[in-house]
Amino acid sequence: MGRCLGLRSVILVWVAAAEAAAVVAASGPRQTVLALPSNMVPSPITSQGHHWSSSSATYISRPKLVEVVNGLLGVMKLPPTCAIPYEHSAPEEVAANNAWLAKYPSALASFDQIITNAQGKKIALFLDYDGTLSPIVNDPEKAFMSPEMRTAVKNVAKLCPTAIVSGRSREKVFEFVKLKELYYAGSHGMDILDKESKLFQPASEFLPMISEVYKSLVEATRSIKGANVENNKFCVSVHFRNVDKKDWKLVAEIVDNVLKAFPRLKLTTGRKVLEIRPVIDWDKGNAVEFLLQSLHLDDPESFLPIYIGDDQTDEDAFKLFRKWNYGFGILVSQVPKETEAIYSLRDPSEVMEFLNSLVRCKEKSPSMIKNDISVRAV
Ligand SMILES: [Mg+2]
Repeated sequence: MGRCLGLRSVILVWVAAAEAAAVVAASGPRQTVLALPSNMVPSPITSQGHHWSSSSATYISRPKLVEVVNGLLGVMKLPPTCAIPYEHSAPEEVAANNAWLAKYPSALASFDQIITNAQGKKIALFLDYDGTLSPIVNDPEKAFMSPEMRTAVKNVAKLCPTAIVSGRSREKVFEFVKLKELYYAGSHGMDILDKESKLFQPASEFLPMISEVYKSLVEATRSIKGANVENNKFCVSVHFRNVDKKDWKLVAEIVDNVLKAFPRLKLTTGRKVLEIRPVIDWDKGNAVEFLLQSLHLDDPESFLPIYIGDDQTDEDAFKLFRKWNYGFGILVSQVPKETEAIYSLRDPSEVMEFLNSLVRCKEKSPSMIKNDISVRAV
């Protein structure tokens, strides 16, 4: 009963703050769920690969609902629609944006500073896909990146080890990016292919459950015009961008209702999308840490990781860099919002400019950024 009322509260709050990205975990009485060991980063890749075995798993408690709701309310305090000022922006919006930019400076304006920090080090680049390399579009199947962006990513990948870290399935994001020079971590980092074409899938035991919840959600949302359920292999996305606003609450209630049968799955929210994924202690931050270790790029004296992303889920990577006190998180956003990133970029076109700047920098100073990492195909 408590769980039911709690979730209803979360849904109501979420609907009110639908523009804000926030995390809502499934609630309920404390229960144990499968998670990775406290030392969650596997050792460097071996010939055996890293298929996760539940026999070595430990168990954690799910977050208390109150903590989740407090986190959500924290997000709600942010200015929800305070756009980057253009000519017609209100003075208070301009002031809010300037204050935000002072806190999270443009990575383009701060490019020299970033490069100074990279002096003598190899840059390892991590890129989210949707909203970072491609524009956010109404139809998630049509989130294509431009040929110019693809060229920029390809060029920078020749200079820096570069990975795509996306909520999409690994196969789907590769279909969009189409570059074999990159590493790919799909399903929020739960599906990684290493350079020797070995898989690391810490949530592999959840595959049947994800498939089942996907079918249930497709069926349950069939009557909601514009609702789009996407199977991202280790997670499921329910897009409501094309759903009439009056039905957003209904979508959330339907998803909540379906999830009651899946206590080992949790709900997170993104940009007009509800995402269902396993309750395991593994996120994009873990994926970045795993890739850095497995590629032997984790010596802070020699390497500088940079992560560019626009999603709430990218915050886990930004937090990791803050904790390490090295590496740069760059948030892509046109609105001021709280973030663990260090720098900001406004949109994918600025991301492309940043990538091109890295390439030009290499041309000017070949020894500054180097790449001796062999590449592999998906
Ligand atoms: Mg994104």
